[in-house]
Amino acid sequence: MSFASETKTELCQVMPQDSCCRRAECYGMLLFGRSFSENSVSLTTESSAAAHRAAQLTAETAGVIVDISTSLWHRRERKSAFTVSVSGSGQREAVLACFGHIKTEINLRINRANIENECCACAFLRGVFLSCGTVSDPQKDYHLEFVVPFMNLAKDLSAFISEIYELDLQPGLLNRKGSYVVYVKGSEHVADLMTFTGAGKAAMNLMQVKMLKEVRNNVNRKTNFETANIDKTALAAAEQIVAIEKITNSAGGISILPEELRELAMLRCRYPEMSLRELGATLSDPLSRSGVNHRLQRIMDIAREL
Ligand SMILES: [Zn+2]
Repeated sequence: MSFASETKTELCQVMPQDSCCRRAECYGMLLFGRSFSENSVSLTTESSAAAHRAAQLTAETAGVIVDISTSLWHRRERKSAFTVSVSGSGQREAVLACFGHIKTEINLRINRANIENECCACAFLRGVFLSCGTVSDPQKDYHLEFVVPFMNLAKDLSAFISEIYELDLQPGLLNRKGSYVVYVKGSEHVADLMTFTGAGKAAMNLMQVKMLKEVRNNVNRKTNFETANIDKTALAAAEQIVAIEKITNSAGGISILPEELRELAMLRCRYPEMSLRELGATLSDPLSRSGVNHRLQRIMDIAREL
């Protein structure tokens, strides 16, 4: 099951006690469905639970009979889509009238009278999400969106969300293939919105995925850092060996090095992987790390002058 379907299934388990909230949720579902007019009142969803909830709430709120039809929208993956619709113009008129809309309405807007009670905001938004919303898999992105067929309706939704005091967020709005997309980005904002509508468990899953991703990134960053450090040591050793070889291949050979540098030069070539501290401990007359470093610098200087 996708993360979006999981979220919708969780939302469908929430049943508001107050009739005003059930009505507000029904309004959100129908208004933000595929069509909400005299000719057609319908919504299509891939969630069977959402479809049945829309049918139940519409029957309860407007007292009309609702049809649910199933079609295969993704043949290969055998995914079904459920279309909820109200047949008969008389019944559709009843639905519109029930929410204070008239049948000749051209410019569809949110009728705030249906969501006047403060308690109804989350129910309404849950309905809108069940009808036209989706949320990305948090493994990929933190993105929640509502795909709305009309611009003014999308603007109304965006304004409604930005007015919700508990959420404190300003959704974005974009045009995609003739539809208007109201979207929210960022793990915190997406999780807040999900929790607000009633999908607290899915929101927690999202934050958990985020935490795991952060831990994994930190581990990766640390590993990269260590690898870089090892590379730096190996690179320095390689440079020292090149310098020593230059000296041994020169006319004077290794004997041009002062005596106290010769043993170190030979050890360096024999043990390229040793750290400076280890080299110092291996010398017949042991030396500190900085002492070894100083002598290697002198060897490098001599090679440079050749
Ligand atoms: Zn309410």
